[in-house]
Amino acid sequence: MHVYADNAATTKMSQVAINAMLPYFDKVYGNPSSLHSVGQEAKEALDAARQTVADCLGCEPREIIFTSGGSEADNQAIISAARFGARKGKKHIISTAFEHHAVLHTLDKLSKEGFEVTLLDVSNGHNITAQQVKEAIRADTALVTVMYANNEIGSILPIAEIGAVCKAAGVPFHTDAVQAAGHLHINVKEQNIDMLSLSGHKFHGPKGVGALYVRRGLPLVNIIEGGAQERGKRGGTENIPGIMGLAAALKDACDHIDENMPRVAAMRDKLIEGLSKIPHCALNGDPVNRLPGNVSFCFEGIEGESLLLLLDMQGVAASSGSACTSGSLDPSHVLLAIGRVHDVAHGSLRLSLCEYNTDAEVDHILKVVPEVVQLLRNMSPVWRDLQTGKRDYIL
Ligand SMILES: *Cc1c(COP(=O)(O)O)cnc(C)c1O
Repeated sequence: MHVYADNAATTKMSQVAINAMLPYFDKVYGNPSSLHSVGQEAKEALDAARQTVADCLGCEPREIIFTSGGSEADNQAIISAARFGARKGKKHIISTAFEHHAVLHTLDKLSKEGFEVTLLDVSNGHNITAQQVKEAIRADTALVTVMYANNEIGSILPIAEIGAVCKAAGVPFHTDAVQAAGHLHINVKEQNIDMLSLSGHKFHGPKGVGALYVRRGLPLVNIIEGGAQERGKRGGTENIPGIMGLAAALKDACDHIDENMPRVAAMRDKLIEGLSKIPHCALNGDPVNRLPGNVSFCFEGIEGESLLLLLDMQGVAASSGSACTSGSLDPSHVLLAIGRVHDVAHGSLRLSLCEYNTDAEVDHILKVVPEVVQLLRNMSPVWRDLQTGKRDYIL
């Protein structure tokens, strides 16, 4: 049996999204900036896709900019707010310690340029509160950027409350909603969101295409300079097939949230319940406000990388912290941020489900994970020390 349980890393494309893209490779292949009818046909498709995305988010089409993905959208939102804040003498930015690297590395760059960054502490509860944001806001705060839901541990943040706090303080609010879009209901106006990033490949759309919502009136700076595409805010000929695929996938996902997500959450809960029985483990992330597909655990006395390789041999594609993808030996910054010590953070496992997963696949995971954890513990000198009392259990 082959089980793909790494949907937070990327998803397979839906047939709906593939079909939406196909005509735009060889039939409607014009450049939307061309004045002839071949180009104008592509322009009409682009306008329709923008309307679709806007409808899914509860905003106007002119508030949507298509980008090369979630990372570019995050970069553009944060850098724009920073540049315009700085013009008014505001050089303070608030974020959280467990953001995606697309956010954290952009903030690093800005802090080297003299911005002051406050990363809200998540060490005590796998989440933040709107009160924490409120207390961190200063007269010189240029931006609050807080993710909608965490990609590793699945916590869903109190976005509407944070939006209200930011609005009351007059501070622009950006959210990286890459894990939320298509999985949770979003309405940027009701939730007081000023800027929002999403990415096609996290909801069964194509890779390499994303979108940034920017509330009308908020200024943007370009990350990609070039032609006048995207209201002059993002140069480069639009990726029409990608944009069509993203829009179709987002609409399909949003139209079926109430049907798909409870079923995904039921599989998630069955996995959490079953895996919790493994001795000396701990669930990571918010147990209540949690992405429907996210299961994240730390197991004491094992290495996450070995666990992944053995699971792969058993047909299960999963993930540990994000660190292994970067080729570094440091454990995930997210797990360290929520207070897991190094040894424990190394033994992490993330299973991320989608509506294509089945109950039989969940049963397969529940069979193989405990076996593989036990196998690795039997070979582990750390586990032996824990068992013989030379070392104290943390979990
Ligand atoms: C995947 C992801 C991104 C990056 O999106 P890309 O389209 O791959 O650039 C950003 N933030 C979060 C939370 C993600 O999960």
